[in-house]
Amino acid sequence: MSKFIIITGGVVSSLGKGISGASIGKLLQLNGLKVNMIKCDPYINVDPGTMSPYQHGEVFVTTDGAEADLDLGHYERFLDVNMTRANTNTAGSIYQTVIDKERRGEYLGATVQVIPHITNEIKRRFTAFENEVDVSIIEIGGTVGDIESLPFLEAARQLRLEKGPKNVICVHVTLVPYIAVAQELKTKPTQHSVNKLREVGIEPSMLICRTEKPLSLHLREKISLFCSVPTQAVIECADAKSIYHVPENFYKQKVDEQIIDLLGLTPKQKVDPKWFEFFDKAMTPSKSVKIAVAGKYSELQDAYKSISEALRHAGMNNDAKVEIVFVNTEKDNVEEKLKTADGILIPGGFGGRGVDGKIATIKYAREHKIPFLGICLGMQCTVIEAARNLCGLHDANSTEFDPTTKDPVVDLTPQQKNVVYKGGTMRLGNYTADLEEGSLARKLYGKDQIVERHRHRYEFNPAYVKQLRDTGLKVSGWHEGVLPEIVERTDHPYFIAVQFHPEFGSRPLRPHPLFDGLIKAGLKRKENK
Ligand code: GLN
Repeated sequence: MSKFIIITGGVVSSLGKGISGASIGKLLQLNGLKVNMIKCDPYINVDPGTMSPYQHGEVFVTTDGAEADLDLGHYERFLDVNMTRANTNTAGSIYQTVIDKERRGEYLGATVQVIPHITNEIKRRFTAFENEVDVSIIEIGGTVGDIESLPFLEAARQLRLEKGPKNVICVHVTLVPYIAVAQELKTKPTQHSVNKLREVGIEPSMLICRTEKPLSLHLREKISLFCSVPTQAVIECADAKSIYHVPENFYKQKVDEQIIDLLGLTPKQKVDPKWFEFFDKAMTPSKSVKIAVAGKYSELQDAYKSISEALRHAGMNNDAKVEIVFVNTEKDNVEEKLKTADGILIPGGFGGRGVDGKIATIKYAREHKIPFLGICLGMQCTVIEAARNLCGLHDANSTEFDPTTKDPVVDLTPQQKNVVYKGGTMRLGNYTADLEEGSLARKLYGKDQIVERHRHRYEFNPAYVKQLRDTGLKVSGWHEGVLPEIVERTDHPYFIAVQFHPEFGSRPLRPHPLFDGLIKAGLKRKENK
Protein backbone atom coordinates (compact mmCIF):
# COMPACT_ATOMS: atom_id res chain seq x y z
CA MET A 1 0.00 0.00 0.00
CA SER A 2 1.18 3.48 -0.82
CA LYS A 3 1.84 6.24 1.69
CA PHE A 4 0.61 9.73 0.87
CA ILE A 5 2.16 13.17 1.05
CA ILE A 6 -0.25 16.05 0.52
CA ILE A 7 1.44 19.25 -0.64
CA THR A 8 -0.47 22.44 0.08
CA GLY A 9 0.47 26.08 -0.41
CA GLY A 10 -0.10 29.16 1.69
CA VAL A 11 0.10 32.96 1.63
CA VAL A 12 0.59 33.48 -2.12
CA SER A 13 0.63 31.42 -5.30
CA SER A 14 3.76 30.78 -7.39
CA LEU A 15 5.83 29.58 -4.44
CA GLY A 16 7.03 26.62 -6.43
CA LYS A 17 4.91 23.89 -4.82
CA GLY A 18 5.51 21.78 -7.90
CA ILE A 19 9.29 22.02 -7.57
CA SER A 20 9.09 21.41 -3.81
CA GLY A 21 6.91 18.34 -4.33
CA ALA A 22 9.07 17.05 -7.14
CA SER A 23 12.20 17.60 -5.04
CA ILE A 24 10.73 15.59 -2.17
CA GLY A 25 9.79 12.93 -4.72
CA LYS A 26 13.32 12.91 -6.11
CA LEU A 27 14.85 12.49 -2.66
CA LEU A 28 12.53 9.60 -1.83
CA GLN A 29 13.41 8.07 -5.19
CA LEU A 30 17.12 8.44 -4.36
CA ASN A 31 16.32 6.45 -1.21
CA GLY A 32 15.21 3.63 -3.49
CA LEU A 33 11.48 4.22 -3.05
CA LYS A 34 8.95 4.10 -5.87
CA VAL A 35 7.19 7.44 -6.19
CA ASN A 36 4.46 8.96 -8.33
CA MET A 37 2.92 12.41 -8.27
CA ILE A 38 -0.61 13.70 -8.71
CA LYS A 39 -1.63 17.27 -9.45
CA CYS A 40 -5.03 18.67 -8.46
CA ASP A 41 -6.10 22.01 -9.90
CA PRO A 42 -9.16 23.59 -8.32
CA TYR A 43 -10.46 25.39 -11.43
CA ILE A 44 -13.63 24.41 -13.29
CA ASN A 45 -12.08 23.87 -16.74
CA VAL A 46 -12.00 20.12 -17.40
CA ASP A 47 -8.37 20.58 -18.43
CA PRO A 48 -6.20 23.60 -19.27
CA GLY A 49 -6.30 22.77 -23.00
CA THR A 50 -8.67 25.60 -23.82
CA MET A 51 -6.93 28.20 -21.65
CA SER A 52 -4.66 30.94 -22.94
CA PRO A 53 -1.00 30.78 -21.94
CA TYR A 54 -1.59 34.18 -20.31
CA GLN A 55 -3.97 32.44 -17.92
CA HIS A 56 -2.12 29.26 -17.41
CA GLY A 57 1.42 29.21 -18.77
CA GLU A 58 2.42 26.17 -20.76
CA VAL A 59 -0.02 23.32 -21.28
CA PHE A 60 1.91 20.12 -20.67
CA VAL A 61 0.91 17.05 -22.68
CA THR A 62 1.11 13.53 -21.26
CA THR A 63 2.03 10.50 -23.33
CA ASP A 64 -1.61 9.36 -23.34
CA GLY A 65 -2.81 12.74 -24.57
CA ALA A 66 -4.00 14.58 -21.48
CA GLU A 67 -3.54 18.35 -21.48
CA ALA A 68 -2.22 19.27 -18.08
CA ASP A 69 -0.57 21.74 -15.76
CA LEU A 70 3.09 22.55 -16.31
CA ASP A 71 3.95 21.08 -12.90
CA LEU A 72 3.62 17.67 -14.54
CA GLY A 73 6.63 18.68 -16.60
CA HIS A 74 8.63 19.22 -13.42
CA TYR A 75 7.45 15.87 -12.11
CA GLU A 76 8.64 14.13 -15.29
CA ARG A 77 11.96 15.96 -15.38
CA PHE A 78 12.73 15.32 -11.71
CA LEU A 79 11.44 11.76 -11.40
CA ASP A 80 11.90 10.54 -14.96
CA VAL A 81 8.44 8.95 -14.75
CA ASN A 82 6.06 9.46 -17.69
CA MET A 83 2.87 11.17 -16.60
CA THR A 84 -0.59 10.02 -17.72
CA ARG A 85 -4.19 11.15 -17.38
CA ALA A 86 -4.27 9.69 -13.87
CA ASN A 87 -1.65 12.21 -12.75
CA THR A 88 -3.78 15.26 -13.49
CA ASN A 89 -7.12 16.29 -11.98
CA THR A 90 -9.16 19.45 -12.07
CA ALA A 91 -12.31 20.38 -10.19
CA GLY A 92 -14.00 20.47 -13.61
CA SER A 93 -13.03 16.89 -14.45
CA ILE A 94 -14.09 15.67 -11.01
CA TYR A 95 -17.49 17.35 -11.26
CA GLN A 96 -17.86 16.02 -14.80
CA THR A 97 -17.32 12.43 -13.59
CA VAL A 98 -19.78 12.86 -10.73
CA ILE A 99 -22.42 14.53 -12.92
CA ASP A 100 -22.05 11.82 -15.61
CA LYS A 101 -22.60 9.19 -12.92
CA GLU A 102 -25.65 11.04 -11.66
CA ARG A 103 -27.11 11.15 -15.19
CA ARG A 104 -26.46 7.42 -15.61
CA GLY A 105 -28.48 6.89 -12.43
CA GLU A 106 -25.65 5.55 -10.34
CA TYR A 107 -26.73 7.60 -7.34
CA LEU A 108 -30.45 6.85 -7.71
CA GLY A 109 -32.33 8.07 -4.67
CA ALA A 110 -29.51 10.22 -3.32
CA THR A 111 -28.95 13.96 -3.22
CA VAL A 112 -25.57 14.42 -4.86
CA GLN A 113 -23.38 16.65 -2.68
CA VAL A 114 -19.83 17.96 -2.29
CA ILE A 115 -19.48 15.72 0.75
CA PRO A 116 -19.44 12.78 0.18
CA HIS A 117 -19.81 12.50 -3.61
CA ILE A 118 -17.27 15.03 -4.82
CA THR A 119 -14.84 14.22 -2.00
CA ASN A 120 -15.19 10.48 -2.70
CA GLU A 121 -14.27 11.07 -6.33
CA ILE A 122 -11.30 13.19 -5.25
CA LYS A 123 -10.14 10.42 -2.90
CA ARG A 124 -10.52 7.87 -5.69
CA ARG A 125 -8.13 9.99 -7.73
CA PHE A 126 -5.74 10.55 -4.80
CA THR A 127 -5.37 6.78 -4.56
CA ALA A 128 -4.84 6.15 -8.30
CA PHE A 129 -1.34 4.70 -7.75
CA GLU A 130 -2.01 3.13 -4.37
CA ASN A 131 -1.06 -0.37 -5.47
CA GLU A 132 1.87 0.62 -7.64
CA VAL A 133 4.13 2.88 -5.61
CA ASP A 134 5.60 3.33 -2.14
CA VAL A 135 4.65 7.00 -1.99
CA SER A 136 2.04 9.09 -3.81
CA ILE A 137 2.74 12.81 -3.64
CA ILE A 138 -0.42 14.86 -4.16
CA GLU A 139 -0.10 18.54 -4.92
CA ILE A 140 -3.19 20.64 -4.33
CA GLY A 141 -3.08 23.72 -6.53
CA GLY A 142 -4.06 27.17 -5.33
CA THR A 143 -3.60 28.66 -1.89
CA VAL A 144 -5.10 27.53 1.41
CA GLY A 145 -8.13 29.69 2.11
CA ASP A 146 -9.36 29.71 -1.49
CA ILE A 147 -13.00 28.65 -1.72
CA GLU A 148 -12.22 26.47 -4.70
CA SER A 149 -9.62 24.26 -3.04
CA LEU A 150 -11.81 23.40 -0.03
CA PRO A 151 -13.18 20.07 -1.37
CA PHE A 152 -9.61 18.91 -2.10
CA LEU A 153 -8.45 19.78 1.42
CA GLU A 154 -11.53 18.11 2.88
CA ALA A 155 -10.75 14.98 0.86
CA ALA A 156 -7.17 15.09 2.18
CA ARG A 157 -8.47 15.32 5.74
CA GLN A 158 -10.74 12.34 5.15
CA LEU A 159 -7.90 10.35 3.56
CA ARG A 160 -5.77 10.88 6.67
CA LEU A 161 -8.63 9.80 8.90
CA GLU A 162 -9.21 6.66 6.83
CA LYS A 163 -5.60 5.63 6.27
CA GLY A 164 -4.20 6.85 9.59
CA PRO A 165 -1.67 9.57 10.43
CA LYS A 166 1.28 7.22 9.85
CA ASN A 167 0.22 6.89 6.21
CA VAL A 168 -0.81 10.39 5.22
CA ILE A 169 1.09 13.58 5.99
CA CYS A 170 0.79 17.16 4.85
CA VAL A 171 3.74 19.30 3.79
CA HIS A 172 2.81 22.97 3.60
CA VAL A 173 4.74 25.34 1.34
CA THR A 174 4.61 28.87 2.67
CA LEU A 175 6.20 32.31 2.36
CA VAL A 176 8.37 34.05 4.95
CA PRO A 177 8.66 37.54 3.44
CA TYR A 178 11.51 39.94 4.07
CA ILE A 179 10.36 43.43 4.94
CA ALA A 180 13.15 45.73 3.83
CA VAL A 181 12.29 48.74 6.01
CA ALA A 182 12.19 46.60 9.14
CA GLN A 183 15.12 44.49 7.87
CA GLU A 184 13.27 41.48 9.15
CA LEU A 185 11.78 38.24 7.97
CA LYS A 186 8.15 38.01 8.99
CA THR A 187 6.51 34.79 10.18
CA LYS A 188 2.94 36.06 10.63
CA PRO A 189 1.71 35.15 7.12
CA THR A 190 2.93 31.59 7.72
CA GLN A 191 1.19 31.46 11.08
CA HIS A 192 -2.05 32.61 9.46
CA SER A 193 -1.88 30.14 6.62
CA VAL A 194 -1.19 27.24 8.99
CA ASN A 195 -4.19 28.39 11.01
CA LYS A 196 -6.27 28.29 7.83
CA LEU A 197 -5.14 24.71 7.28
CA ARG A 198 -6.01 23.80 10.86
CA GLU A 199 -9.48 25.29 10.40
CA VAL A 200 -10.17 22.62 7.80
CA GLY A 201 -8.75 19.92 10.03
CA ILE A 202 -5.28 19.51 8.55
CA GLU A 203 -2.13 19.65 10.69
CA PRO A 204 0.99 20.07 8.58
CA SER A 205 3.94 17.87 9.54
CA MET A 206 6.51 19.98 7.74
CA LEU A 207 6.74 23.58 6.53
CA ILE A 208 8.74 24.50 3.44
CA CYS A 209 9.45 28.19 3.95
CA ARG A 210 10.18 30.16 0.80
CA THR A 211 12.43 32.99 1.79
CA GLU A 212 14.95 35.45 0.37
CA LYS A 213 17.16 35.43 3.48
CA PRO A 214 18.46 32.59 5.66
CA LEU A 215 16.04 31.43 8.37
CA SER A 216 17.81 31.77 11.70
CA LEU A 217 17.39 29.15 14.39
CA HIS A 218 15.44 31.74 16.35
CA LEU A 219 12.93 32.15 13.52
CA ARG A 220 12.62 28.42 13.03
CA GLU A 221 11.87 28.04 16.71
CA LYS A 222 9.29 30.79 16.52
CA ILE A 223 7.57 29.20 13.52
CA SER A 224 7.78 25.83 15.24
CA LEU A 225 6.11 27.16 18.38
CA PHE A 226 3.30 29.02 16.63
CA CYS A 227 2.64 26.43 13.94
CA SER A 228 3.09 23.31 16.07
CA VAL A 229 5.72 21.75 13.83
CA PRO A 230 9.09 20.49 15.17
CA THR A 231 11.94 22.98 14.62
CA GLN A 232 13.82 20.59 12.35
CA ALA A 233 10.70 20.29 10.16
CA VAL A 234 10.74 24.04 9.47
CA ILE A 235 12.65 23.91 6.19
CA GLU A 236 14.39 26.87 4.64
CA CYS A 237 13.79 27.12 0.91
CA ALA A 238 15.75 30.05 -0.49
CA ASP A 239 16.03 30.66 -4.23
CA ALA A 240 18.36 27.91 -5.43
CA LYS A 241 21.14 28.13 -8.04
CA SER A 242 18.80 26.19 -10.29
CA ILE A 243 15.58 24.26 -9.73
CA TYR A 244 17.63 21.05 -9.87
CA HIS A 245 19.52 22.16 -6.74
CA VAL A 246 16.39 22.16 -4.59
CA PRO A 247 16.58 18.41 -3.81
CA GLU A 248 20.13 18.89 -2.51
CA ASN A 249 19.03 21.84 -0.35
CA PHE A 250 16.28 19.67 1.12
CA TYR A 251 18.65 16.74 1.58
CA LYS A 252 21.00 18.90 3.66
CA GLN A 253 18.05 19.69 5.95
CA LYS A 254 17.15 15.99 6.21
CA VAL A 255 13.76 16.42 4.56
CA ASP A 256 13.80 12.85 3.22
CA GLU A 257 14.97 11.35 6.51
CA GLN A 258 12.18 13.12 8.41
CA ILE A 259 9.48 12.13 5.91
CA ILE A 260 10.69 8.52 5.86
CA ASP A 261 10.48 8.56 9.64
CA LEU A 262 7.05 10.21 9.75
CA LEU A 263 5.59 7.70 7.30
CA GLY A 264 7.42 4.68 8.74
CA LEU A 265 9.06 3.88 5.40
CA THR A 266 12.16 1.78 4.92
CA PRO A 267 14.72 3.21 2.48
CA LYS A 268 15.90 0.63 -0.04
CA GLN A 269 19.27 2.28 -0.70
CA LYS A 270 21.59 4.99 0.53
CA VAL A 271 21.29 8.32 -1.30
CA ASP A 272 23.94 8.43 -4.02
CA PRO A 273 25.12 12.04 -4.37
CA LYS A 274 25.74 11.60 -8.12
CA TRP A 275 22.52 13.45 -8.98
CA PHE A 276 23.57 16.46 -6.87
CA GLU A 277 27.12 16.45 -8.24
CA PHE A 278 25.92 16.44 -11.84
CA PHE A 279 24.09 19.74 -11.35
CA ASP A 280 26.90 21.31 -9.35
CA LYS A 281 29.24 20.63 -12.24
CA ALA A 282 26.67 21.93 -14.72
CA MET A 283 26.77 25.34 -13.01
CA THR A 284 30.25 26.13 -14.32
CA PRO A 285 30.19 25.36 -18.05
CA SER A 286 33.17 26.33 -20.17
CA LYS A 287 31.14 27.46 -23.21
CA SER A 288 28.05 29.50 -23.92
CA VAL A 289 25.52 29.65 -26.72
CA LYS A 290 22.74 32.11 -27.49
CA ILE A 291 19.40 30.71 -28.64
CA ALA A 292 16.56 32.95 -29.80
CA VAL A 293 13.10 31.61 -28.96
CA ALA A 294 10.74 33.45 -31.29
CA GLY A 295 7.07 33.34 -30.36
CA LYS A 296 4.27 35.64 -29.31
CA TYR A 297 4.26 34.92 -25.57
CA SER A 298 7.82 36.15 -25.11
CA GLU A 299 7.06 38.20 -22.00
CA LEU A 300 5.48 35.21 -20.32
CA GLN A 301 8.25 32.72 -19.74
CA ASP A 302 5.99 30.13 -18.12
CA ALA A 303 4.47 29.68 -21.58
CA TYR A 304 7.74 28.11 -22.77
CA LYS A 305 8.75 26.22 -19.63
CA SER A 306 9.50 22.83 -21.18
CA ILE A 307 11.25 24.49 -24.14
CA SER A 308 13.56 26.43 -21.81
CA GLU A 309 14.25 23.34 -19.75
CA ALA A 310 14.96 21.22 -22.82
CA LEU A 311 17.44 23.87 -24.06
CA ARG A 312 19.15 23.89 -20.67
CA HIS A 313 19.39 20.10 -20.57
CA ALA A 314 21.04 20.11 -23.98
CA GLY A 315 23.36 22.90 -22.81
CA MET A 316 24.43 20.86 -19.78
CA ASN A 317 25.16 17.92 -22.04
CA ASN A 318 27.47 20.10 -24.15
CA ASP A 319 29.26 21.91 -21.32
CA ALA A 320 27.52 25.11 -22.41
CA LYS A 321 25.48 27.78 -20.72
CA VAL A 322 22.42 28.47 -22.85
CA GLU A 323 21.44 32.10 -23.01
CA ILE A 324 17.81 32.22 -24.09
CA VAL A 325 16.65 35.40 -25.81
CA PHE A 326 12.90 35.62 -26.17
CA VAL A 327 11.87 37.36 -29.37
CA ASN A 328 8.34 38.69 -29.69
CA THR A 329 7.38 37.93 -33.29
CA GLU A 330 4.42 40.26 -33.05
CA LYS A 331 6.19 43.37 -31.74
CA ASP A 332 9.96 43.07 -32.15
CA ASN A 333 12.10 43.87 -35.17
CA VAL A 334 13.04 40.21 -35.56
CA GLU A 335 16.07 40.65 -37.81
CA GLU A 336 17.62 43.05 -35.32
CA LYS A 337 17.03 40.60 -32.47
CA LEU A 338 18.30 37.57 -34.38
CA LYS A 339 21.64 39.09 -35.41
CA THR A 340 23.58 37.75 -32.45
CA ALA A 341 21.78 34.39 -32.12
CA ASP A 342 23.74 31.16 -32.54
CA GLY A 343 20.52 29.21 -32.96
CA ILE A 344 16.82 29.89 -33.45
CA LEU A 345 13.79 28.03 -32.13
CA ILE A 346 10.15 28.65 -33.02
CA PRO A 347 7.83 27.04 -30.49
CA GLY A 348 4.22 25.95 -30.84
CA GLY A 349 1.32 28.35 -30.71
CA PHE A 350 -2.23 29.11 -31.74
CA GLY A 351 -3.82 31.85 -33.83
CA GLY A 352 -2.46 34.18 -36.48
CA ARG A 353 -0.97 36.91 -34.28
CA GLY A 354 2.80 37.00 -34.69
CA VAL A 355 2.84 34.55 -37.60
CA ASP A 356 4.35 37.06 -40.06
CA GLY A 357 7.23 37.63 -37.63
CA LYS A 358 7.71 33.86 -37.40
CA ILE A 359 7.86 33.57 -41.16
CA ALA A 360 10.42 36.40 -41.30
CA THR A 361 12.42 34.60 -38.58
CA ILE A 362 12.45 31.35 -40.55
CA LYS A 363 13.52 33.13 -43.73
CA TYR A 364 16.36 34.72 -41.77
CA ALA A 365 17.47 31.36 -40.32
CA ARG A 366 17.30 29.71 -43.74
CA GLU A 367 19.17 32.44 -45.61
CA HIS A 368 21.80 33.10 -42.93
CA LYS A 369 22.28 29.39 -42.27
CA ILE A 370 21.56 29.77 -38.57
CA PRO A 371 20.75 26.47 -36.83
CA PHE A 372 16.98 26.22 -36.62
CA LEU A 373 14.44 24.06 -34.83
CA GLY A 374 10.72 24.56 -35.48
CA ILE A 375 8.14 22.99 -33.20
CA CYS A 376 4.50 22.37 -34.14
CA LEU A 377 3.28 25.82 -35.28
CA GLY A 378 7.00 26.39 -35.92
CA MET A 379 6.91 23.56 -38.48
CA GLN A 380 3.69 24.83 -40.02
CA CYS A 381 5.23 28.29 -40.45
CA THR A 382 8.32 26.66 -41.99
CA VAL A 383 6.07 25.12 -44.61
CA ILE A 384 4.29 28.43 -45.25
CA GLU A 385 7.64 30.27 -45.52
CA ALA A 386 8.98 27.88 -48.13
CA ALA A 387 5.72 27.88 -50.09
CA ARG A 388 5.58 31.68 -50.21
CA ASN A 389 9.25 32.50 -50.67
CA LEU A 390 10.56 29.52 -52.64
CA CYS A 391 7.56 28.16 -54.57
CA GLY A 392 6.05 31.55 -55.41
CA LEU A 393 2.74 30.65 -53.78
CA HIS A 394 2.27 34.13 -52.33
CA ASP A 395 -1.13 33.39 -50.87
CA ALA A 396 0.01 30.16 -49.17
CA ASN A 397 -1.24 29.89 -45.61
CA SER A 398 -2.67 27.69 -42.92
CA THR A 399 -6.45 27.54 -42.95
CA GLU A 400 -6.17 28.32 -39.23
CA PHE A 401 -5.23 31.89 -40.19
CA ASP A 402 -6.90 32.23 -43.59
CA PRO A 403 -9.76 29.74 -44.18
CA THR A 404 -10.13 30.84 -47.81
CA THR A 405 -6.46 30.77 -48.87
CA LYS A 406 -5.85 29.60 -52.47
CA ASP A 407 -2.96 27.43 -51.25
CA PRO A 408 -3.82 25.71 -47.96
CA VAL A 409 -0.36 24.27 -47.35
CA VAL A 410 -1.41 23.64 -43.76
CA ASP A 411 -4.94 22.38 -43.31
CA LEU A 412 -7.32 20.33 -41.22
CA THR A 413 -7.71 16.62 -41.87
CA PRO A 414 -11.29 15.60 -42.83
CA GLN A 415 -11.65 14.14 -39.35
CA GLN A 416 -10.71 17.44 -37.69
CA LYS A 417 -13.13 19.32 -39.96
CA ASN A 418 -15.99 17.52 -38.23
CA VAL A 419 -14.89 18.48 -34.72
CA VAL A 420 -17.50 20.50 -32.85
CA TYR A 421 -16.24 20.44 -29.24
CA LYS A 422 -12.91 22.24 -28.89
CA GLY A 423 -11.83 20.65 -25.60
CA GLY A 424 -9.61 17.57 -25.76
CA THR A 425 -10.18 17.00 -29.49
CA MET A 426 -6.81 17.95 -30.98
CA ARG A 427 -4.39 15.28 -32.13
CA LEU A 428 -3.04 14.65 -28.66
CA GLY A 429 -0.36 12.49 -27.08
CA ASN A 430 1.92 9.83 -28.49
CA TYR A 431 2.04 8.98 -32.20
CA THR A 432 4.75 7.22 -34.16
CA ALA A 433 6.83 8.64 -36.99
CA ASP A 434 8.97 6.64 -39.41
CA LEU A 435 12.21 8.37 -40.28
CA GLU A 436 13.62 8.47 -43.82
CA GLU A 437 16.93 6.82 -44.43
CA GLY A 438 19.84 9.25 -44.75
CA SER A 439 17.93 12.09 -43.10
CA LEU A 440 19.17 14.42 -40.35
CA ALA A 441 16.28 13.21 -38.19
CA ARG A 442 17.42 9.61 -38.51
CA LYS A 443 20.99 10.60 -37.70
CA LEU A 444 19.97 12.60 -34.62
CA TYR A 445 17.63 9.97 -33.19
CA GLY A 446 19.79 7.03 -34.27
CA LYS A 447 16.71 4.95 -35.06
CA ASP A 448 14.13 4.52 -37.79
CA GLN A 449 10.96 4.90 -35.76
CA ILE A 450 10.19 7.35 -32.98
CA VAL A 451 7.24 8.06 -30.70
CA GLU A 452 6.58 11.68 -29.77
CA ARG A 453 3.83 13.73 -28.10
CA HIS A 454 1.49 15.84 -30.17
CA ARG A 455 -0.89 18.72 -29.57
CA HIS A 456 -2.26 20.26 -32.73
CA ARG A 457 -5.25 20.30 -35.05
CA TYR A 458 -3.69 21.33 -38.36
CA GLU A 459 -1.31 19.32 -40.60
CA PHE A 460 1.16 19.94 -43.38
CA ASN A 461 -1.11 19.32 -46.40
CA PRO A 462 0.41 16.27 -48.18
CA ALA A 463 -0.73 17.71 -51.55
CA TYR A 464 2.18 20.19 -51.34
CA VAL A 465 4.92 17.80 -50.23
CA LYS A 466 6.42 17.28 -53.69
CA GLN A 467 6.41 20.94 -54.66
CA LEU A 468 8.22 21.89 -51.47
CA ARG A 469 10.69 19.04 -51.78
CA ASP A 470 11.82 20.55 -55.08
CA THR A 471 12.88 23.69 -53.14
CA GLY A 472 15.01 21.67 -50.71
CA LEU A 473 12.45 21.28 -47.90
CA LYS A 474 11.86 17.57 -47.62
CA VAL A 475 9.70 15.45 -45.37
CA SER A 476 11.94 13.15 -43.32
CA GLY A 477 9.37 11.69 -40.95
CA TRP A 478 5.91 10.30 -41.68
CA HIS A 479 3.14 9.01 -39.50
CA GLU A 480 1.92 5.78 -41.06
CA GLY A 481 3.01 7.06 -44.47
CA VAL A 482 0.25 9.68 -44.61
CA LEU A 483 0.94 12.58 -42.25
CA PRO A 484 4.19 14.58 -42.51
CA GLU A 485 5.80 14.72 -39.07
CA ILE A 486 9.23 16.25 -39.79
CA VAL A 487 10.64 18.55 -42.45
CA GLU A 488 14.28 19.42 -42.94
CA ARG A 489 16.53 21.23 -45.42
CA THR A 490 19.39 19.55 -47.18
CA ASP A 491 21.15 22.84 -48.05
CA HIS A 492 21.64 24.02 -44.46
CA PRO A 493 23.87 22.97 -41.52
CA TYR A 494 20.91 22.38 -39.14
CA PHE A 495 17.38 23.13 -40.21
CA ILE A 496 14.67 20.84 -38.91
CA ALA A 497 11.05 21.36 -37.92
CA VAL A 498 8.68 18.88 -36.31
CA GLN A 499 4.92 18.61 -35.95
CA PHE A 500 5.23 17.16 -32.44
CA HIS A 501 6.56 18.51 -29.13
CA PRO A 502 10.01 17.09 -28.39
CA GLU A 503 10.43 19.45 -25.41
CA PHE A 504 8.15 17.31 -23.23
CA GLY A 505 10.43 14.29 -23.53
CA SER A 506 13.67 16.01 -22.52
CA ARG A 507 15.27 15.02 -19.22
CA PRO A 508 18.12 16.78 -17.39
CA LEU A 509 20.42 13.77 -17.73
CA ARG A 510 18.99 12.67 -21.09
CA PRO A 511 18.54 15.68 -23.37
CA HIS A 512 16.32 15.35 -26.39
CA PRO A 513 18.28 14.66 -29.61
CA LEU A 514 16.66 17.55 -31.52
CA PHE A 515 17.61 20.06 -28.80
CA ASP A 516 21.02 18.49 -28.41
CA GLY A 517 21.50 18.84 -32.16
CA LEU A 518 20.47 22.51 -32.07
CA ILE A 519 22.93 23.32 -29.27
CA LYS A 520 25.75 21.39 -30.97
CA ALA A 521 25.11 23.17 -34.27
CA GLY A 522 24.85 26.54 -32.47
CA LEU A 523 28.19 25.96 -30.73
CA LYS A 524 29.78 24.96 -34.01
CA ARG A 525 28.51 28.07 -35.73
CA LYS A 526 29.83 30.22 -32.88
CA GLU A 527 33.27 28.57 -33.08
CA ASN A 528 33.49 29.16 -36.81
CA LYS A 529 32.35 32.78 -36.69
N1 GLN B 1 -2.20 25.97 -34.03
C1 GLN B 1 -1.57 24.84 -34.67
C2 GLN B 1 -2.52 23.65 -34.73
O1 GLN B 1 -3.47 23.58 -34.00
C3 GLN B 1 -0.29 24.46 -33.95
C4 GLN B 1 -0.48 23.97 -32.56
C5 GLN B 1 0.77 23.97 -31.73
O2 GLN B 1 1.76 24.62 -32.08
N2 GLN B 1 0.76 23.27 -30.63
O3 GLN B 1 -2.30 22.76 -35.48
